[in-house]
Amino acid sequence: MISYRLGEEHEALRVTVAEFARDVVAPVIGGFYERGEFPYEIVARMGKLGLFGLPFPEEYGGMGGDFFALCLALHELARVDSSVAITLEAGVALGAMPIYRFGDEQQRAQWLPDLCRGERLAAFGLTEPGGGSDIPGGMRTTARLEQGEWVIDGSKAFITNSGTAITSLVTALAITGDPGGRREISAIIVPSGTPGFTVGPEYSKVGWCASDTRELAFASCRVPEANLLGERGRGYAQFLQILDEGRIAIAALSAGLAQGCVDECLRYVRERSAFGHQLGDYQDIQFKIADMEARAHGAKLAWYDAAARLQASEPFKKQAAIAKLTASNAAMDNARDATQIFGGYGFMNEFPVARFYRDAKVLEIGEGTSEVQRMIIARQLGVGGSRPD
Ligand SMILES: Cc1cc2nc3c(=O)[nH]c(=O)nc-3n(C[C@H](O)[C@H](O)[C@H](O)COP(=O)(O)OP(=O)(O)OC[C@H]3O[C@@H](n4cnc5c(N)ncnc54)[C@H](O)[C@@H]3O)c2cc1C
Repeated sequence: MISYRLGEEHEALRVTVAEFARDVVAPVIGGFYERGEFPYEIVARMGKLGLFGLPFPEEYGGMGGDFFALCLALHELARVDSSVAITLEAGVALGAMPIYRFGDEQQRAQWLPDLCRGERLAAFGLTEPGGGSDIPGGMRTTARLEQGEWVIDGSKAFITNSGTAITSLVTALAITGDPGGRREISAIIVPSGTPGFTVGPEYSKVGWCASDTRELAFASCRVPEANLLGERGRGYAQFLQILDEGRIAIAALSAGLAQGCVDECLRYVRERSAFGHQLGDYQDIQFKIADMEARAHGAKLAWYDAAARLQASEPFKKQAAIAKLTASNAAMDNARDATQIFGGYGFMNEFPVARFYRDAKVLEIGEGTSEVQRMIIARQLGVGGSRPD
C-alpha cells in the first residue's frame, strides 16, 4: 500500500512548526530581512523546539527523529519564510550531518550536542570562487600534513551559516594530495576562530536576506590531523552523499515556498476587489491559483517520494534530483504568479510575496543548479556520464 498520509508524530511536528512559523516568525521576519540581520532570537527558539536535532539520535542531544521530519519542518517554515528555513537546512543537512555520518565518536561527542540544541551552527564548505558546479575539477583549496597538523590554503565562496556569532565550525573540502596522479580530496573540520581562517563580510544578496552567507579564506591555517572528517581521500564522495540528501531538504523548502504563495494569494483574493468584484471571482485568477496549488502539490509529492526512498535505504539519487528540479521550478513559477496577483503590493517588500519572489531564484542555483540536476537525472537514465556523481 502506498500512503502519503502523515503518521501521528509527523503530523504533530508539522502542526507545531506551522504554528511556530505563524506566531513567532511571521510577525517579525520582514524587519530582519530588510535590515539584513541574522535572527538569533528566532534561531534560539527553533533550537529549543528541537528542530536542529530532529534527525539525530538522542545520545548526541538529538530528537531521535528522521530525515523526513527535518524536511517537514523545512516545508512548514518556508511557507512563511525561507531565511530561517535555509538556516535550519544548512545547519542540519549540510552542517551537522557530515559530522554525524562520517565523524568518529570523539568528533560526534565534541560537536553534535551544541549543534543539535541550535546553540551553535556548522557550515559546509564546498563551493569555491572559481566554480561550484565544476567541483572537484575547479577546486583549488589544498591541505598538506605538517608535523601532525593540516595546513590549509585556499578559499570558499557563498558558505551559509559560516559567519554568525554562534558558528562553531566549517567542514571544508580540500585537495590533500595526488597519489598516482589522481586528486585526493578530503574533508577537514576547521573550528571558527582558528588562526589563518578568515570569514568575509556578509554578502549583499537578492534574497535569503536574514540568513548568513560569506566567503572564507584559509592562509596557512593549521588544524590538528585529527580534524580529518571520515577517511582521507573520501571527502568528495562524502560530500556528494550529503548533497544528495540535501537536495531533498531543499526540495521540501522549495515546495514550502510554493505552498506559501498559495496561502498568501488565497487570503488576498478574498480581500481585494477590482471592477466591482473580489479578485477571486475572476476565472483568470482562479486558474492561476489552481495552477499554483497543482505545482505546490506536485513538488510536495516529489520530495515525499525521494525522502521515503532515502528512509527505506533504497536508491534515491534520481528522485532527489527530480524533486529539487521540479520543486525549485514550482517555487519560481508560484512566486512570479503570486506577485502578479498582488499587483503593485506584490512589489512592496512589506508583503511576504515580495520576499517569496526574491527568495525563489536561489533555489534553482544552490545545492546544485537546475542544469546540474538535469545532468544527474540524465546520467541516472544512462545518458552521458563520464563523470562520477
Ligand atoms: C545564497 C547561497 C548560499 C549558498 N550556500 C552554500 C553553502 O553553504 N556551501 C557551499 O558549498 N555552497 C553554497 N552555495 C554555492 C552554490 O551551491 C553554488 O552557487 C552552485 O553550486 C553553483 O555554482 P556557481 O555559483 O559556481 O556557478 P557555476 O558552477 O559557475 O555555474 C554557472 C552557470 O553555468 C551552468 N553550468 C555549469 N556547468 C555546466 C554544464 N556542464 N552544462 C550546462 N550548464 C552548466 C550552471 O548551471 C549555472 O547556470 C550557496 C550559493 C548561494 C547563492
